[in-house]
Amino acid sequence: MIECRNLGKSYGTVQAVTEINLSLDEHEFLSILGPSGCGKSTLLRLIAGLEVPSQGQVFLHGQEISGRKIILPPERRKFGMIFQDFALFPHLSVKDNVGYGATGSKKEKQQRVHELLELVSLPHLATKMPHQISGGEQQRIAVARALAPRPRLILMDEPFSNLDYQLRQQLRRDIREILKHEGVATVLVTHDQVEAITFSDRMLLMQKGKVVQEGTPSEIYQNPQTIWASSFVGEANHLPVEWQNDSLQTPLGELNVPSEIGMNARIMMVRPEDFKLESVPADQANGIVKSVDFSGSVQTVGVALKSGASVQVSGSPHLLWNQDDSVKITAERYLCFNSSGNRLNGIPE
Ligand code: ADP
Ligand code: MG
Repeated sequence: MIECRNLGKSYGTVQAVTEINLSLDEHEFLSILGPSGCGKSTLLRLIAGLEVPSQGQVFLHGQEISGRKIILPPERRKFGMIFQDFALFPHLSVKDNVGYGATGSKKEKQQRVHELLELVSLPHLATKMPHQISGGEQQRIAVARALAPRPRLILMDEPFSNLDYQLRQQLRRDIREILKHEGVATVLVTHDQVEAITFSDRMLLMQKGKVVQEGTPSEIYQNPQTIWASSFVGEANHLPVEWQNDSLQTPLGELNVPSEIGMNARIMMVRPEDFKLESVPADQANGIVKSVDFSGSVQTVGVALKSGASVQVSGSPHLLWNQDDSVKITAERYLCFNSSGNRLNGIPE
């Protein structure tokens, strides 16, 4: 449905967004994830038609809608927008906010408002004013309002970040369900990896104005292409490694890897859940337990390696570890990266 080709935007000497290529299918949920200042909002505004690209084009069903100038103005794109600050009209009641963009006869509009208030589970607030309802309720109403004109695409810029943690999780689930129910394609911009992972079908990872990786949330988590991506999406342990005597020397001991990988490997990355800990006598240990955080379903164990490095291990709380336990620690899955921080392999799967 939407395609961006070689899209770029600069403000004076600041290159906010560079060479973005992306496509979005109908009904698809895409998230754009990256640290603050990496160009996410700029990209969203380019798609919305609120900014003129400095390079490249935006297409809608194969027709150019933004290029050297805005060809199809934002109000005619049928895109709904939801921002962090909710932006409800303060002088309009909840139902008038939702009805604002609805189209059709008076009766059709009323029906749409009713249907949407049911969908966001807030029909009882219809006559309230925005200041009389909570932040989470305001955000649901903002979603209902954005959906009222039956948009083809919803664009959301950090929509949950003004809400507290618990509420954010619940609202994220609810809004995802509501949008899936309406069948509307969605682009979510966020700096929160958990939000991006749980919300979207596909993710674009951005760094310094560029897309550095694209894939499903699990692909990006399991196969990060750079050291940076490995720690931006999920928890990662990084350990220095060295190729010597035809094997890879690591703080966890010697590992067998093909020489073409081993020779260039400088860092190994291990997810906390990919370590295995065994209780062993001190003389066979390669690590010592330094901390244990029990959080119900998960136990996080800090282990100091004999080499001096320390790592975080997470696992089931079945067997609880204690401080100063001697352990043999091995990595059941790891990835190697070269001196530029780029991924070399995926062994063992
Ligand atoms: P993000 O949403 O990822 O935090 P933005 O897209 O808001 O990032 O900003 C990307 C870069 O572009 C930043 O360096 C920001 O300062 C700059 N920028 C964004 N909007 C403007 C603007 N209107 N004028 C000048 N610089 C801008
Ligand atoms: Mg932003």
